[in-house]
Amino acid sequence: MNTITELLRSDVVLGDGGYLIELERRGYVDSGSGREKVGTGRGSGQFTPEVAVEHPEALRQLHREFLGAGSQVLQALTFFGTREKLNRAGYGAQTESINTAAVKLAQEVAGGKALVAGSVSRTQLTEREGMESLGKSRDHLAEQIRLLKDAGVDFLILETFFHLAEMKVALECAAAASLPAVATMSFRPLISKCTDGYSPAECAKVMADLGAIAVGANCEQDPQRMLPVLREMRAATSVPLAAQPAAFHTTEACHSFTRLPAFPDDLETIQVSRAEFLNFGRRARAEGIGFLGGCCGCNAAYIRALSRGVAEGK
Ligand SMILES: [Zn+2]
Repeated sequence: MNTITELLRSDVVLGDGGYLIELERRGYVDSGSGREKVGTGRGSGQFTPEVAVEHPEALRQLHREFLGAGSQVLQALTFFGTREKLNRAGYGAQTESINTAAVKLAQEVAGGKALVAGSVSRTQLTEREGMESLGKSRDHLAEQIRLLKDAGVDFLILETFFHLAEMKVALECAAAASLPAVATMSFRPLISKCTDGYSPAECAKVMADLGAIAVGANCEQDPQRMLPVLREMRAATSVPLAAQPAAFHTTEACHSFTRLPAFPDDLETIQVSRAEFLNFGRRARAEGIGFLGGCCGCNAAYIRALSRGVAEGK
C-alpha cells in the first residue's frame, strides 16, 4: 500500500464522506439540538464520536459503504474527539477508548485496501474562551494526536478549524508526533476570511510552511461555493490542494450551512444533489485538487458520484 504522500504524487486521491451527520440521520449520533441551540458559532452542539464504542456496527457499516464507493482513504471517526469536547458531552473519561476504537474499526474495514486517517478538529476552546486558551488547546490536541499515533493511523486530516491560530497549533503537534498531515480550514460566515481574519491564500501559505502535505478547505460550503477558496489557495502555494465540501446549499448572504436556520434539524431542505459532486470530480484536475472527498451531507452515493466524475475527468 502506498503512503499518502506517494498517492498524492501519482494522481487525485479519493477520500470519503461525512460521518457525523449521516450517523445522526441513522439515529446513532446526538446533534445536541434537543438541549441547546446548536449552530451559534459559540462552541455549541454535541456531534461527538461516541458511536465508535456505543454502536460500532453502525460505524463499521458506513466505513464499508465508503470503501465500496471507491474511497482510498477512510477517516477514523475521531472528529471532535479531544478530551475537551468529549468532556462537555459527558464522554471525557472515554477519550482513550473512543479514539482507539474508532481507529481500529476503520483499520478493520480498510483491510489494507485503503489508508486510515485520524480526523482531528478544533477543540472549541477558542470559540468559548478566546485566544488565551490556545495553550490548553495544544495540550488537548497533542493528547488526541498521541492516541491516534499509538492506534496506528497512517496520517492525519486536520479539519474544520475556524481559527488559523489553532490550526497552527495542530500542525505543530502533528509534526512533533512525526505524522503527515492534510490541513483544511473552514470558512464562515463568508468565504473571504477565517474567524481570526486570514484570507484563504494566507491560510494556505501558513499551513504549507508548517509542513502540511496538502492544504485546502472542508465543510460549510457546497462544491460550487468552495471553488473560489480553492482557486485563491492554488495561487498562493504549490503543495497539493485538498477539498472536502459539504452537500448543503448556502446563500449569497451566508456562505456557511451551519449558520443557516436549517442546521441541524432541517438539513434535508438544503441538500445538494450528488450531481454537483459528479461535476466537481470532473473538474478536480483542472482545478488542481489532489485530495478530494466530501464532508457533512455526503454519504456513499455522493462519493460514488465524485469517483465517477474523477474517472471521467481523466
Ligand atoms: Zn462537515
